[in-house]
Order: sequence, then C-alpha cells, then structure tokens
Amino acid sequence: MALVVQKFGGTSVGSIDRIRNVARRALATQRAGHRVVLIVSAMSGETNRLLGLAHEVAKIPDAREMDAIATTGEQVSAALTAMAIQVEGGKARSLLGHQVRILTDDAFTKARIKAIDSSRIIEALDRGEIAVVAGFQGVDAEGNLTTLGRGGSDTSAVAVAAAIGADECEIYTDVDGVYTTDPNVCPSARKVDRISYEEMLELASLGAKVLQIRSVEIAMKYNVPIHVRSSFNDQPGTVVTGEDASLEGATVSGVAYDKNEARVHVVGVDDRPGIAADLFEKIAEKNISVDMIVQNVTTDADPRAAITFTLGKTDLARAKAWIESIAKNVGAREVRYDEDVVKVSIVGSGMRSHAGIAAKMFRLLANEGINIQAIATSEIRVSCLVASKYTELAVRALHDGFGLNKP
Ligand code: ADP
Ligand code: ASP
Ligand code: MG
Repeated sequence: MALVVQKFGGTSVGSIDRIRNVARRALATQRAGHRVVLIVSAMSGETNRLLGLAHEVAKIPDAREMDAIATTGEQVSAALTAMAIQVEGGKARSLLGHQVRILTDDAFTKARIKAIDSSRIIEALDRGEIAVVAGFQGVDAEGNLTTLGRGGSDTSAVAVAAAIGADECEIYTDVDGVYTTDPNVCPSARKVDRISYEEMLELASLGAKVLQIRSVEIAMKYNVPIHVRSSFNDQPGTVVTGEDASLEGATVSGVAYDKNEARVHVVGVDDRPGIAADLFEKIAEKNISVDMIVQNVTTDADPRAAITFTLGKTDLARAKAWIESIAKNVGAREVRYDEDVVKVSIVGSGMRSHAGIAAKMFRLLANEGINIQAIATSEIRVSCLVASKYTELAVRALHDGFGLNKP
C-alpha cells in the first residue's frame, strides 16, 4: 500500500467530463489498495477569467483582494471533484488551503509555504476518503487567503507530498511528460524518461511552465520523486529525481522560453560607483526581482551610461511609477520599456565541461536573423533576450541546432 499524491492541472479538470475522469482515476488508484490525496487546479481559463474581472474593476488591483478572488477557482474544482468521486461510489472530501492549514507568508499573489498541518488530510485518509485539496492557495498567520503564484498547484502538490511523507507525487497534465522543449511550440521536441532535479529546476526557472519552480525546489529539498504524466492516457511520463538521470552526456538537454518578462532601459545615468546599487536596492525594497542586467560601456564622447534590465511583466505594471522616480533620483535622462520580448534559454549540466556553447547559440540565432538584446549565463545555462515575434523561430532553431531532435 502506497501513499500517493495526484495533482490534476487546469486542462485535466477543464470540464465536467474531465472531472469525472479524474474521479475515476483516483478511485482506481484507491481500489488498487493505495491512499490517495488529490490536488486540483482551477478549471482551465478560470484563473485568467477571475484575474480579468479584478482588472476590470481596478487597473492595479489590491493584491490581498486578488488572492481572495483567485482562490475561488480551486474551491470550485475541489468541491466538484469530491462530488464526482461520491457519485462514482467513493468517499471524498474537499479541503481548502485554510482548512488543511497550508500556512504561508503574507506575500499576496506569490506567497511561500511556511508549514503544512497534515492532520486533517491524514484523518480523511483514515476514514477511507480521498482527500481533495484545493491547489494554489494557503492562508497567512492573520487568516488572509493567499496564492502561491501562477502555476502554484504544482507547489501545493509537492509540498503536501513532502508533509505527509507520500511515496510519490504524480503531476497529471496536458502533455505526456517533460520534453526537450515545449512540444506545443516545437514539433520535434522529444519526451525524456528521466530528468535530474537540477536540470528541471533550471528549465522551470527559465519558463518551462510544465512544473512551477518552487515545486521542484521543494521536491529536491525533501527528496520527493515527481512523475509528470498525461491525464489523457496511461503512458509512463517523466520521472524527476535526484539520481543522475540519463541526460548525462548531452551538452544541451533542453530549451526554454519565457514571455513574462519586460525590458526596462534606463538611459543617461552617471558612470560612477553607487548608481547601480542605488537603483537596484530601491527596486528590491518593493520585493521585485530583477533578472537580466546589462550596463553599456561609456566613451569619452558619451560619458553617460545606460542600464538595461528585465523584470516580470506584472511587477512592471505595479512598479512603473516607482521605477521612474528612482531612475530620476539617480539622474537618468529617460526610461524606456519594451514588453514585446522573450527570453530564450538553453540548459544542460553538460555545458560545464564544454567550451563554445554560448557562441554556437549566438550563431544559430544570427543565422535566423534574430538580434540579441541581452545575454545572461550561468554554469549550466545561457539565456538571450530577443523580440517576442521570434519565439517559435528561436526555440526551433536552438532545439534542432543543438541536436535535441535526435535521440
Ligand atoms: P497544467 O494546467 O496541467 O498545470 P501547464 O499549462 O501549467 O499545465 O503546463 C503544461 C504545459 O507546459 C504544456 O502544455 C506545454 O505547453 C508547456 N511546456 C513548456 N515547456 C515544456 C517542456 N519542456 N515539456 C513539457 N511541457 C512544456
Ligand atoms: N490556477 C492557478 C493558475 O492558473 C494555479 C495552477 O493552475 O497551478 O495559475
Ligand atoms: Mg501548471
């Protein structure tokens, strides 16, 4: 008898028929002798619809109220799923974040889990029920509803799996597993059977939304094996584990892209110590993370510097006025924005021991006539910021150019 957590994403609970399918799947697992905890997302499109309503009322909606709205999506699917299990003859109970008590900090819209009280889940399992936990949500110490950031149900699933000591955490989604790149963008993408936490972490942090980054961090920390698989068939998917996975040897193992970043260009600042510190300290004070940063070189003819950086699009909307006033304070001439950008990245632990990978990436993009606006590198990845209209072209060129289309 195993203790399993099964998480079903938005598409997998996207209609009443699909919710019935989830109920049957969970019951089949239970009838095979296992204890089952389900984590469900909102029905597909629902979270966007709810956030859209908020934006109709307020241009920059209050974050606490946004979470109060957004959590309702998962509340609906958890209750529907529990009912569907009951109708199929099983026993089930829905549990919202505050009922389980998934305690988070108070960073509304991107809260982090601090503790999970697993007693109500265990009590439900002891009564022979399937516990259906609403994903994406928690509660802060003051009792305010919080959400874990877009895609956060993955994190709910892995965190609950860690808290109850589950044997496995299955992530059911609309693709067959983790691919070498997004299969919906690149037709030659290949499913991988196994991937290491480290590489998955990198892919997730660079935009591969198949798993939310926090879920991979927690899985790695608590050694929770994740199995990403399709909710539409019974094929084995991709196992994400700590053991060094079969991708070893490949230099580049995946390509990711992220359209959620915007570029900010602060033009005409002094080229002297302290300017970057002033600028980025003030931005960090607002709990805004900056990603890629480029500062140009000044010349005698033009002694003013320009600093370019990227940050999340939602953060930009919230912080535009703030960024402009900080920029003015450090003497900037002008601030420009560009939201039509995408960050494309290549990832692979084999890159550590190979030279020339970045150069090859730049050449592959150049061959397609794609201009690079900013570059960031680490030991196991290279990212380039390019115009968003090139997303598909860039992803496909890099994927096939690094031979990922061939086994
Ligand atoms: P869910 O609603 O089930 O959580 P998501 O839409 O959040 O599903 O994540 C699944 C999607 O992630 C896929 O439909 C696919 O378009 C995208 N994706 C991006 N990169 C990858 C990748 N490397 N492998 C698999 N899917 C990926
Ligand atoms: N419903 C939330 C979202 O759309 C959480 C999730 O699906 O994981 O972001
Ligand atoms: Mg998701």
